Amino acid sequence: MRIAIIGAGSAGLAALKNCSELKNENDSSMTIKCFEKSDKIGGTWVYTPEIGVDRFGLPIHSSMYKNLRTNLPKEVMGYPDYPIPENEKSYLTRSEIVDFLNSYCDHFQLRKFISFHHNVELVEPFEISQPKTEEKNCNLQKWRIRVKNLLNQTIIEEIFDFVMVCNGHYFEPSIPNIKGNDIFLGQKIHSHDYRVSDLFKDKSVIVLGAGPSGMDLALEISSVAKKVILSHHLKDPILTKFPHNVIQKPDVLEFEIDKAIFKDNSKEKIDIIFYCTGYKFSFPFLAKNCGVRVESNMVTPLWKHLISIENPSLAFIGLPFYVCAFSMFDLQVRFTIKYWKGEKQFPSKEIMLVEENREKEEKISLGLQTKQFHMMGPKQGEYYDDLAKNAEITPLPSVLTKLHNDSSKRFLDDLVNYRRDRYKILNNDNFVQLESLPL
Ligand SMILES: Cc1cc2nc3c(=O)[nH]c(=O)nc-3n(C[C@H](O)[C@H](O)[C@H](O)COP(=O)(O)OP(=O)(O)OC[C@H]3O[C@@H](n4cnc5c(N)ncnc54)[C@H](O)[C@@H]3O)c2cc1C
Repeated sequence: MRIAIIGAGSAGLAALKNCSELKNENDSSMTIKCFEKSDKIGGTWVYTPEIGVDRFGLPIHSSMYKNLRTNLPKEVMGYPDYPIPENEKSYLTRSEIVDFLNSYCDHFQLRKFISFHHNVELVEPFEISQPKTEEKNCNLQKWRIRVKNLLNQTIIEEIFDFVMVCNGHYFEPSIPNIKGNDIFLGQKIHSHDYRVSDLFKDKSVIVLGAGPSGMDLALEISSVAKKVILSHHLKDPILTKFPHNVIQKPDVLEFEIDKAIFKDNSKEKIDIIFYCTGYKFSFPFLAKNCGVRVESNMVTPLWKHLISIENPSLAFIGLPFYVCAFSMFDLQVRFTIKYWKGEKQFPSKEIMLVEENREKEEKISLGLQTKQFHMMGPKQGEYYDDLAKNAEITPLPSVLTKLHNDSSKRFLDDLVNYRRDRYKILNNDNFVQLESLPL
């Protein structure tokens, strides 16, 4: 059994941890390799002041900004078997998360499996003529992986039985095509390239998008900007109390040389367009014939947002968003391993396709768009339970979803102060809120 893991962010580490246990338990002849293009573990949590391309000419992966503090409490950000240790606050800094990921990596001795500075360039089906056999999982697709060692520029090709794709999904900016984009003469920046607020000093800035990044960054730059115009298409105005220099506007109809015109026909003079418009799923290394594509930002066809329906030996860890990320990664990996080991059998291709389609139709009937297919939010608990039930593995405790939902509500209600909140998990079902940190 040869398993390749692409990326050593928090998803790749969860993959490595569970796969390495498999190796220890069962089969010392197993091969597990994790390819990481950077020189560090931690993925998007690793801050760099650099933007654009790195010294190897590859796009900078991290979207982390200098002052970032998590938007979820540490109580829901750990791994199921490795929680984030006690700390007087619940909302940690980015460097505290990197420290945590490094301690996870060292505790489970995962570093020895990681090839740093190794960029996966191509994953393609590998055809061999082998007799069909009844043995479990022997007929699954194998994969040829082409990797470049960035330090000495050599290319390596290896064959793997299974591939876990853990390359993240916050690195390929999505920029809407709004009329007048090209006429506007001021500066434009996407949140992927945001590091510090200097650029916005004394400027009038339009922030496009009121997702977690748009809200957080509108707040962050409001301390230096002259005016922040938060433009979004939420049905109702956001009720949180913003600083005095932040106003809300509907979507932009068009840009002029130095103005934005909104759908309510109002106009604002602006210096900078700040795109907080999210990211596109992107797998630049996947061959066209691998059996998975991105369609309107839905990765498809996948069983349970995770397993390639065409080729179930290919799994994508971490696609769902608005989740308890690290715990979900661990659950998805444990699920995948159960099937790959042959302890559970994949349903037929037809059944998996029907399930995916049914979920898509349900979401569309609720008014969601295809690009929101992998969005979980309040529904995340159902997803976790479904994975655990199907694979007959230890479920995630319901307290995670409860606390995630509570903190998401606090984020919307009191953006300025919610990070002073402190929580304590009491047991699998209950948490309490402790006295908040002082101002
Ligand atoms: C600004 C920001 C704030 C966030 N805040 C929170 C928060 O408060 N709480 C929370 O739970 N989540 C937050 N998230 C979500 C965060 O993305 C997830 O928590 C999680 O870190 C994603 O992990 P990942 O391993 O899937 O991806 P990443 O962390 O992106 O890691 C992917 C890794 O794959 C590597 N890689 C990519 N392509 C290749 C290749 N071709 N070859 C080799 N290696 C490759 C990359 O170098 C990287 O190390 C935030 C995200 C962003 C961008």
